[in-house]
Amino acid sequence: MAGAALLGRLTWLVTEVVGAAQETPRVRTLVLDANGWTGHRAGQHVDVRLTAEDGYQAERSYSIASAPGEPLAITVEELEDGEVSPYLVGEVGDGDRFEVRGPIGGYFVWDGTDDAPVLLIAGGSGVAPLMSMIRHRARIGSRAPTRLLYSSRTYEDIIYRTELDEPADGVEVFHTLTRSQPPGWSGYARRIDAEMLGEVAWPAADEPHVFVCGSTRFVDAAADGLVAMGYPALSIRTERFGATG
Ligand SMILES: Cc1cc2nc3c(=O)[nH]c(=O)nc-3n(C[C@H](O)[C@H](O)[C@H](O)COP(=O)(O)OP(=O)(O)OC[C@H]3O[C@@H](n4cnc5c(N)ncnc54)[C@H](O)[C@@H]3O)c2cc1C
Repeated sequence: MAGAALLGRLTWLVTEVVGAAQETPRVRTLVLDANGWTGHRAGQHVDVRLTAEDGYQAERSYSIASAPGEPLAITVEELEDGEVSPYLVGEVGDGDRFEVRGPIGGYFVWDGTDDAPVLLIAGGSGVAPLMSMIRHRARIGSRAPTRLLYSSRTYEDIIYRTELDEPADGVEVFHTLTRSQPPGWSGYARRIDAEMLGEVAWPAADEPHVFVCGSTRFVDAAADGLVAMGYPALSIRTERFGATG
């Protein structure tokens, strides 16, 4: 009820697309200028509402990929048979308008107010809110030791690849490619498992902030692995994008 009441106070804002970047063949980042936007925290999301000429409306949630203080940006992965994502990835362009509502969420957020280690685990487009945290860390000059374990299908599917290739001091990025790997690939080449988590994650006793984001199946597998390592379930903050992804 409290969540519904909070959401009720948020109004839909008319938003204009002011920039777009193709991140991978199936993923695009949209930079949005939302009239009346009041800012966000790293990890939060927005609801997007599209309205067709006949009045039909569709709403979906998208994580905010930009850091607090930067222009609002979302990163959308196209699901071939999806209703909304093919439009956001393949059709909208500069000057197009739709509505957003937000920012939403007070649990899956990292403000960077302490220097405790930060463990980020992402599957596919689940990297979007974690990228907001990594960008926020850089903007505020945080020294929190940070590790990102990021699972993609192929090398070409790695979102924000160039940016992640040059992480800031104190940020370590570990990739795993589950479907195919380019020649000479030195990262992991399988789904995230207990052995991988044991190599990448800090011991639970170090009490890192933990954020896991991706498809429901991905998040459940990663969280189960962390619990098996001794992480208290309640210490693992999760965001599930849905069945696919
Ligand atoms: C908090 C939150 C944050 C999110 N952040 C992001 C983000 O940053 N980036 C991102 O890309 N996505 C994100 N998502 C997912 C996003 O909200 C959408 O679910 C996604 O873009 C798919 O929407 P769509 O309209 O394209 O697909 P949909 O039309 O909703 O379809 C989704 C899938 O369900 C299947 N499906 C649809 N209808 C049926 C049916 N009747 N029966 C069986 N299967 C069906 C489709 O085949 C498709 O594979 C987030 C979700 C949440 C909850």
